[in-house]
Amino acid sequence: MVPETLVTTAYLAAGMLFILSLGGLSAQQTARRGNLYGVVGMLLAMSVTFVAPEMASPGRIVGPLLAGAAIGAWLAARVAMTAMPELVAMLHSFVGLAAVLVGISSYLAPAHAATGAERTIHLIEIFAGVGIGAITLTGSIVAWAKLRGTVSGKPLLLPGRHALNALVVAACVGLAIPFMAAPDATGVVPLLIMTGLAAVLGVHLVMAIGGADMPVVVSLLNSYSGWAAAAAGFMLSNDLLIVTGALVGSSGAILSKIMCDAMNRSIWNVVFGGFGAAPPAPSGAGAAAQGEVTPVDTAGVAELCRDADSIVIVPGYGMAVAQAQHPVRELTDLLRAAGKEVRYAIHPVAGRLPGHMNVLLAEAGVPYDIVLEMDEINDDLSDTDLVLVLGANDIVNPGAEDDTTSPIYGMPVLRVWTAKTVVVSKRGMASGYAGVENPLFFKENTRMYFGDAKKSVVDLVTALR
Ligand code: NDP
Repeated sequence: MVPETLVTTAYLAAGMLFILSLGGLSAQQTARRGNLYGVVGMLLAMSVTFVAPEMASPGRIVGPLLAGAAIGAWLAARVAMTAMPELVAMLHSFVGLAAVLVGISSYLAPAHAATGAERTIHLIEIFAGVGIGAITLTGSIVAWAKLRGTVSGKPLLLPGRHALNALVVAACVGLAIPFMAAPDATGVVPLLIMTGLAAVLGVHLVMAIGGADMPVVVSLLNSYSGWAAAAAGFMLSNDLLIVTGALVGSSGAILSKIMCDAMNRSIWNVVFGGFGAAPPAPSGAGAAAQGEVTPVDTAGVAELCRDADSIVIVPGYGMAVAQAQHPVRELTDLLRAAGKEVRYAIHPVAGRLPGHMNVLLAEAGVPYDIVLEMDEINDDLSDTDLVLVLGANDIVNPGAEDDTTSPIYGMPVLRVWTAKTVVVSKRGMASGYAGVENPLFFKENTRMYFGDAKKSVVDLVTALR
C-alpha cells in the first residue's frame, strides 16, 4: 500500500498527462506525442489505483485486467481504419455499462454509510450516473449497428416521438422520488425500472437519427460516455475518474459542436431532428433523369494531369476502402516533380471518422503543408485546373448548396465543380453514406473515372511515367 498523498499526486500527474494528450491530438504533427502522453497517463493511473489504500484485494482484479487488456489489444490490432467508428461506438457502450454496474453495486453495497445531505448527494450521483450510463450503453450499441449496416441508417420517426421522449424523461425523473425515499436497499426497484426506461430512451434517440448525422452521434456518445465515467467517479469518490470523465465529456461536446458547425447543423437539430430522412436512392437511380455521365479512361486522365498546372486531390471514404493512400502519395510526388502545384482538400466529415483522411495521408507520408482544410481551400477551387475526387461523394455534392429538397441541404461541401475540370474516381454510380444522388457526376466539366480507386491511381501513375 502507498500513502494517500502519493496516490493524489500520481492522479494529478495522470490528469495533467491527459490534458497534454488532448492538446497533442489537436494537430497532426504532435498527435503521436499526444497519444503517448495518454498511454503513459493511463498506465500511471492504473498502476497507482492498483496499490491505493482503498483497494481491498488487488489480486482479484488481475485476471479481468489482463483479459480486458488482451481483448483490447487483439481488437485494436485487427480493426480496419474504416471500421474504427464502430469500434469506438462499441467502446462507448462499455463505459455506459460500467457506469450502470458501478452505480447499482455502489447502491447495494455502499463503501461507507452516509447520512443526511451526504446520503442525498450520493443517491443523486447514483441515479444520474446509472441513467446516463444506460442511455450511453444502448445508444452506442444502436450506433454501432447503424455504422456497420446491421440496422438501417434511415431514421426511425415514430409519430409523437418528442412527446414520447419527454414522457420517458419525466417518468425517469419521477422514479427518483421513491428511489430517494426508500429507507433501505428497496430503492433498487425504482432504480432498475429507471435503468430500463433510460435504456429504451437511448435506443429511441439514436434510432431517430439519420445516417448522415452518425458522425455527430458518435462524437456525442463519446461525450455521454465521459459524463457517465465522471458520474462513476463521484460514486466511487475517485478524483481522477471525475477529472478524466469531465475531460472526455467536454472534449466530446466540443467535437460535436465543431462537427455540427462543419455540417451547418444545430446540435439540437441533430439530436431530435431525424435528419437524413429521405430514403437512399438506389445505386444508379436518377442517372436518366439527370442526363448522361462522361466516362474517361486512364490515358484521358493522364492527359488532363499533364495539361494542368494546379491540381487539387479530394480524398473520401472510397480512398480509405481501397487503401489507395500510398499510390496517391506516389502520384503527388510525380506531379510535383513535373512542376505542378498539388494540394489536398479535406472535408471535416470525409471518410468515416473525424480526421480519417489526415491519418491516412500522414501514414503515406504526404507532406502536411499541402493538406488543407475545406475552409482554407474552397475559394481556391475556382482557380484550379483539375480536381481529382478519389472515392468521395457526399462531401462534393452540389445539391447540398442548391437543392432545398436534398437531405444534406445546408451541409457545407467542397465546391469542386467550380474548377476547370473534375475527375471522379469511383467504382460505379452508387450513392455515398447519406444515400443521396450526386448531380456533380452529370456536370459538363466532370469526367467519371470508373474503377477501384487504388487500381485507378496505380494505372494513372504508370501512364504518367
Ligand atoms: P461517401 O460515403 O459519401 O462516398 C464514398 C464513395 O466511395 C461511394 O459513393 C463509393 O461509390 C466510393 N467507393 C467505395 N469504395 C470504393 C473503392 N474501392 N474505390 C473507389 N471508390 C469507392 O464518402 P465521403 O467521404 O464523400 O463522405 C463521408 C460521408 O460519411 C458523409 O456523408 C459523412 O456524413 C459520413 N460519415 C462521416 C463520418 C466522419 O466522422 N467522417 C462518420 C460516419 C459517417 P462506388 O460504390 O460507386 O465506388
